[in-house]
Amino acid sequence: MKKAIALISGGLDSMLAAKVVQEQGVHVEGLNFYTGFCVEGHTHAIREKHRSRPRRNNALWVAEQLGIKLHIIDVSSEYKDIVINPKYGYGQNLNPCLDCKIFMVNKALAWGMEERDFDFVLTGEVIGQRPKSQRKETMPIIARESGADDLLLRPLCAKNLTPTRPEREGWVDRAALYGFHGRNRKPQMALAESFGFSDYAQPAGGCCFLTDAQYASKLQDLWDARGERDYELDDIMLLKVGRHIRPASHYKLIVGREEGENRYLEGYRKRFLHMRTTGFPGPLALIDGAPKRRDLTLAARILARYSRGRTLPRVDVSAHHTDGVVEMLNVEPLSPTDLPASWHV
Ligand code: SF4
Repeated sequence: MKKAIALISGGLDSMLAAKVVQEQGVHVEGLNFYTGFCVEGHTHAIREKHRSRPRRNNALWVAEQLGIKLHIIDVSSEYKDIVINPKYGYGQNLNPCLDCKIFMVNKALAWGMEERDFDFVLTGEVIGQRPKSQRKETMPIIARESGADDLLLRPLCAKNLTPTRPEREGWVDRAALYGFHGRNRKPQMALAESFGFSDYAQPAGGCCFLTDAQYASKLQDLWDARGERDYELDDIMLLKVGRHIRPASHYKLIVGREEGENRYLEGYRKRFLHMRTTGFPGPLALIDGAPKRRDLTLAARILARYSRGRTLPRVDVSAHHTDGVVEMLNVEPLSPTDLPASWHV
């Protein structure tokens, strides 16, 4: 029996691609990469407004539906170079989709075929679905630069592409593969229905935060403020949470927008100068960067503006320094008109 390694993002396309090949009697196992930018489970688990969505890891859930083994691999440190220096540039935001695909297929190849006895790699790519990474011209680039060459099968659009080795050698029947193309999702939805899949993750424009305009602007701001294109895992986690307000290039506030976010930020408070209002409820604010003494008053005024005391003439704010010193500030909450829109990252 031939064995295929399937890249599983948690979305419908990779689920269908794996199922199509599985149906042909091929043994399929899934591979999912943790890049640090994955949308999966993060904000959905933290934010109240996302509570209606199922709190699950969609890749694991897909594997469960397919009855396949899923291997989740943390590639977050190696992935940094892809985000910082993409050879093929970015998509609409800071999403280096083409480089990312090449990287992931290459990783799958090394993991599944060089280190284990898998015969080929499969992905859920569909020609024309994404403007940059899923054009007909980019398909051969991914196959070539990843090193997978004709051992990379795209079951959902294979009929629009040159036959790969799994098809030529009869490991899979090309006639039973598909020729989907373009952004129309109806063929995939019909195929899902034919397999009896009714509940699946709706594609929301991408599988990671790098496709999100707001997130990309926060990442760009981080790079601009630090004067270098670099990040730590904690940086990119915190970009997913809270309001980011930068009054000056040397510091910014990360202010929780709701209870779930405040709880999440609590986990970071010992490593940051942080502030909270005293006497009544308000958000937690982490201060990232190197604020000067005189900046603390403005930071406290901004925080007070998001607390329940925003209409009071003055509000008490405690500033907790990383050395354990707690400083009390009594400030006038900043009025919304004094908070320039340009400070919102
Ligand atoms: S959306 Fe994100 S994870 Fe998906 S291919 Fe693009 S960069 Fe990679």
